Amino acid sequence: MPLPSAYAPRLWIKISMSVLIVGSTALDSIKTPTSENPKLLGGSASHAAVAASFFGPVRLVGVVGDDFPKQYVKLYERHGIDLGGLQMLPGKTFHWSGEYELNMDNRRTLLTELGVFETFTPTLPKTHQSSPYVLLANIAPSLQSHVLDQMRRPKFIVADTMDLWLNIALKDLLALIKRVDAFVLNESEAHQLTEKNNMLHAAREIHKLGPKYVIIKKGHNGAMLSGPSGLFLAPAYPLDCVMDPTGAGDSFVGGMMGYLAATSGPVEKKMRRAMIYGSVVASFCCEGFGLTKTTKVKRRDIDKRVRELEKLIRF
Ligand code: AMP
Repeated sequence: MPLPSAYAPRLWIKISMSVLIVGSTALDSIKTPTSENPKLLGGSASHAAVAASFFGPVRLVGVVGDDFPKQYVKLYERHGIDLGGLQMLPGKTFHWSGEYELNMDNRRTLLTELGVFETFTPTLPKTHQSSPYVLLANIAPSLQSHVLDQMRRPKFIVADTMDLWLNIALKDLLALIKRVDAFVLNESEAHQLTEKNNMLHAAREIHKLGPKYVIIKKGHNGAMLSGPSGLFLAPAYPLDCVMDPTGAGDSFVGGMMGYLAATSGPVEKKMRRAMIYGSVVASFCCEGFGLTKTTKVKRRDIDKRVRELEKLIRF
């Protein structure tokens, strides 16, 4: 059943359209060389939804167990996130644990406890089925497709993934890729999917699978877009100190979708700027554990960093 929600939608000005985000809603236990943080609010959909919420209305679709802390529900609500599509089932919330090496780039998964995810089928409330922008954040591709089956003529669909699904659900993933406008993955996943080392070649191969836009994330080296107007390189915002990069990719794609939905005009014309906004939201994510920094940020902080990034790359 959907969570009882004290949700009161923010009054977004004029053109903002909703972004529907489906993905994991998790408790993350994160270890870095200097610190350990158990059971933070995490999951691909949580990071993406908070990131998108800086720009306009967001509808979250996911599942949590009855152990899900109330303070995390409140945090979603403080960001104006519509929880009508968030189910609470008896059992444990999905729990993921990861450990970073000294370079803060290499990460290994220590634990994945599926909990209520094991039996989860995303069912969209009627109100959500006509959301114009759809972000299928990292979750099993069969569930991402199940969400698409319920949508009524969305305007723009983006899907993200992870290596696990390339390993255990490739057929489902290939079926999904055909149906999306943009496909997002990181460099090693692009290499795994296409067997190409050169990312230009990899992007070309992925276009052949269906999507008009291919976005390859390169961690602290930014992201590359390949689309109808050719290539674009979005740098990462340079940071003094990376505390925890967990969810940076989700924040990137969430920020990007939030910006696309909140601005008028054709997607093609705003894609580059949307990626810069995504990069900036991801930079805030890396500066704190889990969502601790991102949830303290204001829209004006994001705009300020976008201006700084613009100055850094103009020549
Ligand atoms: P990222 O750092 O962008 O790769 O995303 C990390 C997030 O992915 C964490 O918050 C995890 O909770 C979530 N996650 C980890 N494993 C899975 C999985 N198998 N399915 C969905 N989400 C996952």
